[in-house]
Amino acid sequence: MDDAINSMKVKANKRPYIGLSQAGDKCERRIWLSNKKEYPIYYSLKTTRVFEVGTLYEKVVIKSLKKIGIKLVARQQTVFVSDKVFGHIDGLAFHNGMTKLIEIKSMNAQRFKLFQKGDLKKDFYGYYAQVCAYLKTLNLTKGLIVAICKDTEEMAIHEITADDFIATVEINKLKKLSMQETEPEALPLIGGATPLDCYYCEYKNHCNR
Ligand code: SF4
Repeated sequence: MDDAINSMKVKANKRPYIGLSQAGDKCERRIWLSNKKEYPIYYSLKTTRVFEVGTLYEKVVIKSLKKIGIKLVARQQTVFVSDKVFGHIDGLAFHNGMTKLIEIKSMNAQRFKLFQKGDLKKDFYGYYAQVCAYLKTLNLTKGLIVAICKDTEEMAIHEITADDFIATVEINKLKKLSMQETEPEALPLIGGATPLDCYYCEYKNHCNR
């Protein structure tokens, strides 16, 4: 029974569009496959719980932010790049005299330690690119990434300043992929070895990785 409660496979509901939150994903093939129903993906029950717990953490974080005077509005507001590329923001908040985008992430202790170091462009490029893409689309200049550690419940906040170059590159990539008919190449092997991205990818069987 323990096996079933952890490893039973559940078919994922694929969205019919490319999410703005996919900005920063190094693998163009994964982005391209993400809205194609003809390439279904299956998650283990354990993985679906990880997603659900992430949603619960969001509520916990919002409650704490409110206590320090950061009150979220525009929760899950849709942000459109095109009818094929759009996303939903965690929220906006008025902070230090300006409206800022708020993006909430939950992570394990190891990742949290790295987050605390604060070089998000290098160590959390996906989050960084995602926030830059949202900022450009919403015409905002500042965003806050709020992280909570799933092992200790400690929180940390980093401010991101809009980076127009990164945002433009990433948004254009998503737009191009949303219109592309042919499947992009898989990530190249690194010195004959499988890249780390492929190990945790839902398409690794599809790519023979
Ligand atoms: S398995 Fe690797 S190459 Fe294939 S979609 Fe995933 S990340 Fe990309």
